[in-house]
This record gives sequence, C-alpha cells and structure tokens, in this order.
Amino acid sequence: MDRPQDKCGVVGISFGRKRSVAPFLYNALRALQHRGQESCGITVYDGKELTLHSGMGYVHEVLGKKELKDIEGSCGIGHTRYSTTGGSRARNVQPFVGSTDVGDLALGHNGDIVNACEIMQDRQARGWAFLTSSDTELILRLLANELVDNPEVPKAMAIVAKRLRGAYSLCLQVGESIYGIRDPLGIRPLHLGHIEDGYMFASESVAIDTLGGDPIRDVEPGEVVELRKGRLTSHRFAKSKGTAHCMFEWVYFARPDSIIEGSEVYKVRQKIGRILAREHPIEADVAFGVPDSGRAHALGYATEAGIEYDEGMMKNRYVGRTFILPSQRTRESDTLAKLNPIKSVVSGKKVVMVDDSIVRGTTMRRSVKMLRRAGAEEVHVRIGVPHIIAPCPFGIDMKTRDQFLARGRTDEEISKIIGADSVGYLSLPGLEEAIGLPLERLCCGCLTEEYALDIPEGHLSDNTIC
Ligand code: 5GP
Ligand code: MG
Repeated sequence: MDRPQDKCGVVGISFGRKRSVAPFLYNALRALQHRGQESCGITVYDGKELTLHSGMGYVHEVLGKKELKDIEGSCGIGHTRYSTTGGSRARNVQPFVGSTDVGDLALGHNGDIVNACEIMQDRQARGWAFLTSSDTELILRLLANELVDNPEVPKAMAIVAKRLRGAYSLCLQVGESIYGIRDPLGIRPLHLGHIEDGYMFASESVAIDTLGGDPIRDVEPGEVVELRKGRLTSHRFAKSKGTAHCMFEWVYFARPDSIIEGSEVYKVRQKIGRILAREHPIEADVAFGVPDSGRAHALGYATEAGIEYDEGMMKNRYVGRTFILPSQRTRESDTLAKLNPIKSVVSGKKVVMVDDSIVRGTTMRRSVKMLRRAGAEEVHVRIGVPHIIAPCPFGIDMKTRDQFLARGRTDEEISKIIGADSVGYLSLPGLEEAIGLPLERLCCGCLTEEYALDIPEGHLSDNTIC
C-alpha cells in the first residue's frame, strides 16, 4: 500500500476572546504552502461542535471561499500536506478527526513514524481496523485509546510516545484545547508564538509573522504545550536525549524568512554559500542560483568569492514542483518548462551555478544543458549540502538508494554525468558551521546513512509499509 510522505505544515491557534479563527488558519496555511501542496484542511471548534473543512489542492483553492469567514469558533488547527505518488490520496487529507469519549479530536501531523507498520499490525491482531494507511491515523487512535484511562493529554501522550519511533510535530485539538507536541528528538520544526490575546503554533515562524503575531520560541523536543482560551501551559511528555533536527529544513525545505532553533534560514543559506566558496573556489565571471531554492546560497558564494552575482536563470512560477512528479520523463520535461537561462547573463561567460541539493540529478543535468545551449563557456556547479546518498525515513520524498546520483560516485563522475566542467559539494563540517549547531544535534541521515533511531529496513528501501 502506498504510504503518505509527511513533510507537511501544521498550525494551531487559540484566541482568548471570541474571534473567528478560520481566516487566521487560512493565512497561516498559505504561508506554509511550500511545505505541502497536495491537500489541506482546518478544524474549528465553536463551543459545541468541531467542524472540518478540507480537500485536495492548494490552500486558496480548498479554503479560499467566502463562507470560511462565517465559520464561528475561536480555536482551531490546520494542515497542509506534501505530495506523494499514487494511492488513496483523498483519504489521507488532514487534519484527521475522530469522535471519542472525551470529545472530538482532530490531529495534524508533520513527520513520519518509522515503526508505524509494526504497531498497526500489532493493533490489527487485536481487532483494530484502520481506514487509511496513514501513521497520523495511527497516532490519533493510539491517543484516543489512551485518553479513555488517562484523560489528560500530556499523560496519554507520555504513554503513546513510548511506542512511537520517528518524527512528529503535531497540532492536536480536543474541543477548545489546542496542543502543540514535538517528538523527543525535535526532528521536524514547530514554533510557538503570540497572536493578539492568544497563542499559536506553526511549523515555521513565518506563519506567525504573517498573521502579525510574535514568534516566541521553538516547542521543545519532548514538550507538549496546551493552549486553552488564550492561556498557555507547558508539560514534558518525554525526556529528550539529545536532538536530531533535520538539516534539510535549513538547506532547502523551510522558507528563508523562518527562524528554526534560533538560526534564520536565509542567513544559514548565505553562510553555506560563503563556506562553499572557500571550500570550492573557481575563477568565473558570474555566479547565480537555481531559482528559487538555490538563490541565497549563490549570493553567499558570489559575495565571498568576489564574483559578480546575477540572475542567470528564470523560473516559471506557474509550473508546480517537478521533484515530486511520478516519472522521470515528466520530471525532465517539466524541468525544461520550469527553468530557462537569461542569455545575456550567461552567453560567452564562465558561470558558477549554485543549487541547494542534488538528489537524482534531474535538475542539474537539464540546467547545465540549457546553459551550454545559451552559450555559456564554462559551467561550474556548486551544491549547498554534502552528497545526498541515502533515503530519508522521516518524511522527505526520497525513495530507493539507486536514485541518488551521488551514491557510489566521485565528484568527477558526477560532473561528467551532469555535463559540468566541475562540481563541488559543501562539506559536513561546513554544514555544521553554517547551521551553527553541532552535528550530533542534527539529523544528517540522508548524507551519512546514520540515523538517530533504529529504522526497519523495509521502511528505508521502498518507503512503503504494510
Ligand atoms: P534532483 O533534480 O537532483 O532530483 O533534485 C534536486 C532539486 O530538487 C533541487 O533543485 C532541490 O531544490 C529540489 N529538491 C530537493 N529535495 C527536494 C524535496 O524533498 N522536495 C522537493 N519538492 N524538491 C526537492
Ligand atoms: Mg530547487
């Protein structure tokens, strides 16, 4: 069965006084749209009932209707989901809602539970029937089950957390209480902020900024924060033995204007570029990034190297993300439709093209070819992360090991395959320096094949469960 990938965005808001929360959830989700474009949804509690509005598509398509403004309720959660290929997609739209003894529960999840299959099989043997293949449903049902005996969420969460292995940043709604929960390793981000007379959680601080709120701090690994009628209480549901923050959030995934663990994403990317210029210098006429994700890295590179920075490549904003397309042919042709060089910038020049990462190499192969056709004399590729060689068990859509261009290849071989004159990757110590956290506190599993948790082999090889 196809399993959803959950590199998603979550939000939860609780106002103190009566105030329609739905438009706020909507705007927060729009600010988190880059974290997931497949589907989205919100739940709102009006004092009596919890209502769900969700569907497939972008936030403005699903939730942009006028009626949203009329939904009553001053607390709610929202979710935007990252795409995956095939399978029962509509059923996996979040938040998941379940009705229980303690009231209606709604859950939005960003992350990936690596032992979900094992727990599901165990529960199925006891007669549980699952409606979806999603590990979010699993968490919701484990929690609901625990809440029967332990009606307090932090206590129930402490018990559930003992079974769960993996990444989870959660927004949970139980009636008028909103909970923000972050796994004991803090793999995925979750930020806490002030908003008017209340509080909110969001995957990234940019969503708090967008609503005119003030980011306060990250939810701590192993912490559950409860918001109720605008008041905040914090509990610890698990001890955190070190952290494993996903380094890819800074490198690629998060928005540059977000702050994660005290480091602004934009600043980290620029620093990556600067370090890359020191590690892999080259004589060139112009440097530019592959838009949009490689631009900050390129600016850092050019500044440090003293090379002119320019826009060498344009991106068609109306073409969706090519990375997640199901077949290599569509990925190739869509990359062509998405990117186009600016001829006056590259023609007759020695260029440095910087991107955040190479996974399969589709983007780079295509881009180098385009630059040559546009008359570039030399094309030097610089990459703002070390070699990605292994799957991510915690949510990034990277599948089997043979898909990684850098796996088992030297830089010379990679350079030849993508058709470049040279290629240079950031080093691990360079990444550490740029993020400003020691490597032991980061998850670099896709670079080192060393994961912070035991990962069942089946979970790594094809990313499917059950
Ligand atoms: P490649 O084309 O080598 O397979 O993937 C690298 C390109 O896709 C880079 O331009 C990078 O910005 C982007 N990318 C890397 N990882 C991800 C991901 O997990 N999701 C999406 N949508 N894009 C990614
Ligand atoms: Mg990119």
